[in-house]
Amino acid sequence: MTSAGRFAPSPSGELHVGNLRTAILAWLFARSTGRRFLLRVEDLDRARAGAEAEQLRDLQAIGVTWDGEAVRQTDRGQLYAAAIARLEEAGLTYECFCTRREIQEAASAPHAPQGAYPGTCRSLEPAELEFRRSTRPAALRLRAGVTEYTVHDVLHGDFTGVVDDFVLRRNDGVTAYNLAVVVDDAAQGIDQVVRGDDLLPSTPRQAYLASLLDIPIPEYAHVPLVVNGDGVRLAKRDGAVTLADLARTGVPVEEVRDLLLASLGLPAGTLEHVLPAFNPASLPREPWVWTPPAEMQSAPTIA
Ligand code: GLU
Repeated sequence: MTSAGRFAPSPSGELHVGNLRTAILAWLFARSTGRRFLLRVEDLDRARAGAEAEQLRDLQAIGVTWDGEAVRQTDRGQLYAAAIARLEEAGLTYECFCTRREIQEAASAPHAPQGAYPGTCRSLEPAELEFRRSTRPAALRLRAGVTEYTVHDVLHGDFTGVVDDFVLRRNDGVTAYNLAVVVDDAAQGIDQVVRGDDLLPSTPRQAYLASLLDIPIPEYAHVPLVVNGDGVRLAKRDGAVTLADLARTGVPVEEVRDLLLASLGLPAGTLEHVLPAFNPASLPREPWVWTPPAEMQSAPTIA
């Protein structure tokens, strides 16, 4: 299987300019290194009817093209189940009955690593296990053998982060993102992961899980996010931030694309056209503050 990069949006709504900028970067990273580029719809959670079609349409409109058909996580349950079965057979999982509140309380205890599951259900006595099974459905957690793991990132260098007994399958039966992403990337031959740097803290967990499943760890590039004027990650409530919103305010898709390229220090034009100018080493390392194009021009006057 030839090497590949990917973009993996969650179809929770329309993509905004921050998502589109990350998609452009993922495409440039993959294509500039001769990789295939794949699209995966991460619809295990947070899917909204119609959002997938809107997202694929907007990616195409901005020039992000992909090889083959987009795959959908909800079609891939067997792959996740097989990986979970392997971990179970190796004794690397356990059932967890904690409520969100119990976890919050235990995790705020002194000496608990930030955001780490404290291992409450790791070694329940058989009688206790049996009792807890009768009270609520169990989530399945990884029995991690380390507390931290180091990954290498093209933009961040070596990054060491927490690895805890994270959830592999939620107690409603849905596969957890950290498991699905590792299994999918491997099954699709993805060896380059470019995504927003809000996901960097989860990456040591994913790379560690890959190592347990004998999966090669991909090359990572966690790219800076787009933020609003207050420095907060861009969201729909920040006004006209989707292609459809911007088109309604008179900004065509080509102009949005060129703004995003300019924010990356790249010339205007189609993605194919700018590809030769792309150099990861000269990418901005700071978040980019989105200024709506309409506000950059003076307000229109009515004659
Ligand atoms: N589906 C995730 C998101 O939209 C991205 C996951 C990834 O790129 O690994 O935030």
